[in-house]
Amino acid sequence: MYQDVSSKYQPVIGLEVHIQLLTESKLFARDANQYGDAPNTNISVITLAHPGSLPRINKKALELAIRMGLACGSEISQYLIFDRKNYFYPDLPKGFQLTQDRTPICKGGLVEITTKSGTRNIKLNRIHLEEDAGKSFHPPESADSLVDFNRAGTPLIELVTEPVIHQPEEAYQLLTEIRKLVTYLGICDGNMDEGSLRCDCNVSVRLKGDTDLGSKVEIKNMNSVRNVRRAIEKEVERQIELLDKGDMVVSETRSFNDKTAGTVSMRTKEEINDYRYFPEPDLSPVQISNDWLHRIRESMPMLPNELKQQIEDRYAFSSEDALFLTDSLEVFNYFTQAVNTSNHPNNVLNWLKGPIQSLLKEKGLSISELNLSPGQLGELADLTANKLSFSIAVKQILPALISESNGSPRDIAGKLGLLQDQNEDSLEPLVVDILEAFPEKVAAYKKGKKGLLGFFMGQLMKKTDSKVDPRIANELLAKHLN
Ligand code: ADP
Ligand code: MG
Repeated sequence: MYQDVSSKYQPVIGLEVHIQLLTESKLFARDANQYGDAPNTNISVITLAHPGSLPRINKKALELAIRMGLACGSEISQYLIFDRKNYFYPDLPKGFQLTQDRTPICKGGLVEITTKSGTRNIKLNRIHLEEDAGKSFHPPESADSLVDFNRAGTPLIELVTEPVIHQPEEAYQLLTEIRKLVTYLGICDGNMDEGSLRCDCNVSVRLKGDTDLGSKVEIKNMNSVRNVRRAIEKEVERQIELLDKGDMVVSETRSFNDKTAGTVSMRTKEEINDYRYFPEPDLSPVQISNDWLHRIRESMPMLPNELKQQIEDRYAFSSEDALFLTDSLEVFNYFTQAVNTSNHPNNVLNWLKGPIQSLLKEKGLSISELNLSPGQLGELADLTANKLSFSIAVKQILPALISESNGSPRDIAGKLGLLQDQNEDSLEPLVVDILEAFPEKVAAYKKGKKGLLGFFMGQLMKKTDSKVDPRIANELLAKHLN
């Protein structure tokens, strides 16, 4: 278990997050930007760097990168030059990657995160545009390696933070927040399994109070937000152990092993490439006009934080509940649609937080994969306001809806004879009857045996064949007993 930072050392962490942009075509070519297609089908002479082919910039990619910058409050650079980053690798057909070395499209900015210790703004260094490389495969059953160039030239933004993160938990929250932002902005699908969102973690440790940075280790190949936290925890522990022994931390690149959660060395600083950056001569500088920048600013969607505030104001929900509802765009959209078909927003919330969330966990599904439409949930929320007991609806109606699909909650409840006609008026005489039938128990309750409330509730359930809204019943019992 990771110990919350020893009193002697302070971890220093900086993240580099690669975000694949949701464009139709590639950054400098017209080939489809499409994951999962047959290998080497989304390629062209430009992607394969045939001599004489010339790159052209994808305007949509610029727009998506600017959206991210605006969401983070970065300064948007309006004069852009692309640079060649030269290195040799089999999945890099050109022998260089086009990136932005000196004129990143976004400079500075911040991302707000919340951890148990409070809310903090994490400073960004830059967000730049670059193209992705292809992908090599090393099938275990074969001595050959394979290469797929479909991914080559896919537009990416790389978001680079300042080294200002001090807890693995902060890194975890930051990446979670970034994933949330990019999906709300519609610029990336946020899918870490498919590599649409990837993260390198730079980690060092220094004595508390020191202002100089220690030598850093860069951890590559992390495929989940959870692994980012695990890898940093392990790496901080490893470095502290070294320093405690009087050893030095070697500046190097390490890769993360999912099974052991540990990191292993890939290459040390001396082997790190000199990329010999220089401006791409085949692409003229890009000028972003004030007018276009203005139009992008005007068309920005609402950010998760703004939507959260809107929910708090509109429905008087707590900050935690609003956070839960905006945790992902999927949940937010589902809630919005369900609440539009319902007169009981509170019930919609309770359904989502309670039974629906447990069901999703149990089945390992996301809400859009659940066989229950927002309209059906809205109807359930209304029924359980007074016509149907919540616990019966959870036990009987929900499973029926999920296995049947398309059914109406009201019809199913009606067929099963579960709809209650009770309201306060019809229930009140029953409550009075019960209290009159058990005078000793009422006296005992009044003397302080508050646990008897359950007994009275049980009697009421018996009389109504369990078809009673516990909320109304509780209110009535309280009214007559107190
Ligand atoms: P490099 O040239 O090795 O790529 P950069 O200066 O570009 O290093 O920084 C890359 C990332 O590493 C940034 O997110 C930065 O905040 C982080 N970083 C830089 N130095 C350190 C350090 N000593 N400890 C932790 N993170 C660091
Ligand atoms: Mg780097």
